[in-house]
Amino acid sequence: MRFTLTGNGAARGMALGRARLEQPSRYLIDERPVAAEDVDTELARLNRAVLTARAELAALREKLHGMLASEVGDFIDAHSLILADRELNAGLADLVRVGRYRASAALKMQRDRLVAVFEAMDDPYLRSRKEDIDHVIGRVQAALARESSEEERKLAARVGEILVSDTVAPSELVPLAEHGVLGVVLTSGSPLSHSAILARSLRLPMIVAAHEALAHIQDDDLILIDGERGDVVIHPTAQDIARYRNWQRDVVQRGKRLALLRDADTRTRDGVPIKLYANAELPADIAQARACGAAGVGLYRTEFMFLQRKELPGEEEQFLAYRDLVLGMEGLPVTIRTLDLGADKADSTGLVLDDEDNPALGVRGVRLSLRRPQLLIIQLRAILRATHYGPVRVLVPMVTSAEEMSSVRYLLNECARDLRSAGHEIADQIDLGAMIEVPAAAIALRGFIKKLDFIAIGTNDLVQYTLAVDRNNDHLANLYDPLHPAVLRLIAHTIGVASRAGRSVTLCGEMAGDTHYTALLLALGLTDFSMHPGLLLEVREAVNALDRSTLVGELKQLMRATTREGILHVLEQLKIAASAPLIAPA
Ligand code: PEP
Ligand code: MG
Repeated sequence: MRFTLTGNGAARGMALGRARLEQPSRYLIDERPVAAEDVDTELARLNRAVLTARAELAALREKLHGMLASEVGDFIDAHSLILADRELNAGLADLVRVGRYRASAALKMQRDRLVAVFEAMDDPYLRSRKEDIDHVIGRVQAALARESSEEERKLAARVGEILVSDTVAPSELVPLAEHGVLGVVLTSGSPLSHSAILARSLRLPMIVAAHEALAHIQDDDLILIDGERGDVVIHPTAQDIARYRNWQRDVVQRGKRLALLRDADTRTRDGVPIKLYANAELPADIAQARACGAAGVGLYRTEFMFLQRKELPGEEEQFLAYRDLVLGMEGLPVTIRTLDLGADKADSTGLVLDDEDNPALGVRGVRLSLRRPQLLIIQLRAILRATHYGPVRVLVPMVTSAEEMSSVRYLLNECARDLRSAGHEIADQIDLGAMIEVPAAAIALRGFIKKLDFIAIGTNDLVQYTLAVDRNNDHLANLYDPLHPAVLRLIAHTIGVASRAGRSVTLCGEMAGDTHYTALLLALGLTDFSMHPGLLLEVREAVNALDRSTLVGELKQLMRATTREGILHVLEQLKIAASAPLIAPA
């Protein structure tokens, strides 16, 4: 009964719920003959499934009131009659006993026979009634496939739903979470996709690349998902459920332990202050950023305001959102990124071209903004107006060349001038920075760092573009490697160029929030990290336990490594050295 499917964990957390398939159930028909000694067991399974289907129909009939009762009730009665039909049941039993068909194959056989009879009828109305046969047999197949125990059914009735689908767009996730969906299992996708990033924001456990999920999970199956390990347990046992309860207890305990770090400094063991900023896109992220003592918002993704709607948000709507963000951070710095639509963040407003062969290499980020300057102007004006309420920096995504930054700078200055002359109070000086996420920008950075007030390294895209590996393609997940020597060299080079030019560098890709990389990033000289606020306390704990000078001192050795394995080996040594007690215990 119990079985497990594996995918990749994309948003941590566990969830126990009823599967809700986005694709209609397809039943697996087992065509192998039943062994003589198993005939009785198979007949019993079939009878149980028929009884369950009848009970479900009776329960459905009970629930109907008013108009619905007379209109739909007749159909349900007809279905109940078909299910109770002696000939149908005797035919099924014969197929199992004599033909040695398994229950699911017998049902399919009976269905095909009856449908053939209906199809041969002259009367079009009667002919169309073959649908009833499909519904009735489908219900029994579903009950057969479920074969859940009484306890499991009781539990399933109490829990919410987990969506099982092939893919889900970022814009669909918010309404799903609002409607109480507990988790998501996808047959495709990657933990780096924007849907996965958003699921983490929504604290919605998600598993991606569980290729077999739609084939093996049925509607209403009780499933337990573990977004950390990436597994889905179908028909979980009491032991699995105990594991889930333990996890719930652990979450509370870990939360209590980490909560002690909320007001703590982020400082390496040798006393170097490190800044941990929050990535944000939803109002809840702001509250969480404040609650865990973030140094500010290092990346505010504005595209989520553009999803799920037909009309573009105007200046006033955007201004109010940015103002609330700035006010919510109570004087801490906020970095607002201009629109980064395109690639997998396709919207419904018609902004994004949908006929591009390679959207990740297409009109996205600043390329889209500069082709639609009016769009950028509205956004820049809204951001500029928010600067009156607290410190704000403007960050530009997908930058490849100095010219793009000059164009944005020009528009920013124009907008500031217009706003001031219209009487708006805006900050005197507005810092403008670039996301370094295209290898060309990283390599050529020395040539245009002077044009930038600060930079943010977007490793999610930098890895994708450096390694030519689509961040959303689960077939290439093993090639998507932030530890590739080429990626590390680009990060080290970018940090080096920016630091020498006196510009601040924040790293805001998913690497920043993953404690596996904390020692590495400190060794590369990074001091400003930006991550999902839910990960901030863990990173603080990791930073506080490491000695930065030991890590930075070994940078050359790290850079000499030419393979991922070599890098991992050096890192392991380094971590041990950097977390050894400063004073050896007596
Ligand atoms: C990145 O590319 O690392 C990044 C932070 O931006 P996004 O994930 O929104 O593309
Ligand atoms: Mg990016």
